[in-house]
Amino acid sequence: MTLETPLADIPRAKRFLPKLEKLGLSTVRDLLWHLPSRYIDFSHIYQIKDLKPEVEATVRGIIQSINTRHAWRNRRMTITNAVVSDETGSIEIVWFNQPYLTQTLKQDKEINIAGTATLRNNKLLFTNPAYELITSGGTTKHTGRIVPIYPETKGLTSKGIRYLIQIIFDTLPPVAETLPETVLEAASLPDLNTALHRIHFPKTQKDITAARKRFAFEELFLLQLHNLLQRMQLASQQSPIISVTASDIHNLTARLPFNLTASQQEALNDITRDIGRSQPMNRFLQGDVGSGKTIVAALAAIASATHGYQITFMVPTSILAQQHYKTLLKFFSYFEGGIGLLTHTDARIYYGENSTTNTTKKELTDAIENGTLKIIIGTHALIQKNITFSNLGLIIIDEQHRFGVNQRAALTKSGSTTPHFLSMSATPIPRTLSLTIFGDLDISLITELPKNHKPVTTKVVDPNKRQAAYIFIKQQVRDGRQVFVVCPRITASEHSDADILDARKRTWLEVRNVEEEHEKLSRTIFPDLRIGMLHGKLSAEEKNEIMKQFTQGNIDILVSTSVIEVGIDVPNATIMMIEGAERFGLAQLYQFRGRVGRGEHKSYCLLFTDSHTPATHTRLASVARAKNGFELAEEDLKLRGPGEFLGSSQTGMPDIAMQALQNPEFIKDARNAAQAIVHKDRTLTIYPKLKKRLERFTQRVHGE
Ligand code: ADP
Ligand code: MG
Repeated sequence: MTLETPLADIPRAKRFLPKLEKLGLSTVRDLLWHLPSRYIDFSHIYQIKDLKPEVEATVRGIIQSINTRHAWRNRRMTITNAVVSDETGSIEIVWFNQPYLTQTLKQDKEINIAGTATLRNNKLLFTNPAYELITSGGTTKHTGRIVPIYPETKGLTSKGIRYLIQIIFDTLPPVAETLPETVLEAASLPDLNTALHRIHFPKTQKDITAARKRFAFEELFLLQLHNLLQRMQLASQQSPIISVTASDIHNLTARLPFNLTASQQEALNDITRDIGRSQPMNRFLQGDVGSGKTIVAALAAIASATHGYQITFMVPTSILAQQHYKTLLKFFSYFEGGIGLLTHTDARIYYGENSTTNTTKKELTDAIENGTLKIIIGTHALIQKNITFSNLGLIIIDEQHRFGVNQRAALTKSGSTTPHFLSMSATPIPRTLSLTIFGDLDISLITELPKNHKPVTTKVVDPNKRQAAYIFIKQQVRDGRQVFVVCPRITASEHSDADILDARKRTWLEVRNVEEEHEKLSRTIFPDLRIGMLHGKLSAEEKNEIMKQFTQGNIDILVSTSVIEVGIDVPNATIMMIEGAERFGLAQLYQFRGRVGRGEHKSYCLLFTDSHTPATHTRLASVARAKNGFELAEEDLKLRGPGEFLGSSQTGMPDIAMQALQNPEFIKDARNAAQAIVHKDRTLTIYPKLKKRLERFTQRVHGE
């Protein structure tokens, strides 16, 4: 057995395969790196006389009696009763619906019982506790020790995961270290093999702390190493020097119908300074929805184009591509260097006021290849199409982060110079986090909204005011406006996406969902309005079509999950109604709100929650107060911790590292360690294992 051994090759793991797959685990490595999310301390074995109610505890004793019967009221339910005693007393135990227990747990056997006893009729009682027979060796996995609790899935509990990990530890030779000795020593970390054993089967709290520290440190160290090497590698490449001058910019901005905000101007300065250098720009422009990132990027694009370079502007969807194309034509109608649009369905070129715009894909790609077309807006189809640019100077990517490296590589396979690179995102990430996570990028922030921006009235709506809210919505639609309704889930599922329950086991019942809300709104509440539905289970084409209909005003109310695109601009939409608001992150709520208030009409954000806890209301109210998304993101980060705030899908970083990202000392140590390694050998040739490890890390953070 090695770390690469498929779990399918382990006979005793076979029956768990579908569940393991559901957790995304397919190799021994995956399973060993499926780290506990928390622990329960059953390490102290209590004498029965010392048990206290509501305290996690293990007792060890002899089974005095055990039997199973059907419940009196409900014949389908079974109840197993047992009495266990030690020399100090005895305690009663109840298990529901586990009739098979009596096959293994027999009278006179020695057993550990671990759980939280409760008082019933003045007597202590264990209900559904963990249990474990004491075998001849006397060692236990599930009781009488600190017990790890894992992210679980239906049918594979922490107990099952512990069982599988024990099998692996029994067979697998010691896992070889991947970090250089010096790194371990400098940070006083346990070696990998020790850390793996301790994180899964700790003997003491100290074991846990040390092991967690190691894994967290490793992630941050690799991240820093990745970022450092990325920066060094780019610094060694040549880029075109695009000498955009202040007066170039001034001439362009003078023709805009508004003045740039100070933040926009600063960001633009950052960009023009960078692209005027012979080293590639690698910049990340962050700013709230509506803060005017597009115009900043567009100005940089037009200015670069007038210096003869090509610019490609890539966005995730064709609707966004069309939107940006329109924006450019609106603000730069006088530009004659060619603005092109390329999506799966559309090919257009605009060469100035009196030109026609419709074209064929062939003409468009020819114009890109011979350099007559300077600005090309498109979806990622641009990459797949294998287009050769004649003089690509700048790549701009909107509404996504991280993937830039691959995209730049894909677009520049031919050229001898590396184009400059600008990515933009409205996801508000606190500065403390983004400096580390995106440490390979330089960051520009737009921290203010344009002055003419009208604030969106934001309210947490009491459940008994729901009817009034519906009447208000109806009035708005009568006046010609449009409405978003956002729900946390797609279907009233059988806990489908709640299958991966975290150990806190929140209740998932009665979560508002798109399908039911859509049904309810179209049948009973607004039978005469046009109601659309949008969620992640629709195909890309279906989603596109619905968004198009909404953008064109053919849908009055769009019921949707959180998939509505971040950048989407529907100025006519004036109400953002959010159901189950407590289930969204603050930063996410803030972004939803940013989708209204984009036009001339007064807009509203209505937050609905069935939760009555003051904490929820305080939290939701802070969305109304926040000055910008970054501020809110900081707050959200403090309230919920980085794991909840930014899913690992967005950063490629596991929770354990996200938590460590809040510790500046730790980050500094990781950076120093990475710098020391790079200083010694930036090719990592003398650290072959580390090099391999870094490759795996890079693949993950780039989402490959
Ligand atoms: P983002 O992409 O950052 O979400 P947009 O670039 O779509 O924001 O800008 C939102 C709206 O504000 C657009 O209609 C844009 O034309 C307008 N806008 C941008 N900058 C300014 C400004 N400085 N003053 C007034 N309006 C602006
Ligand atoms: Mg945008």
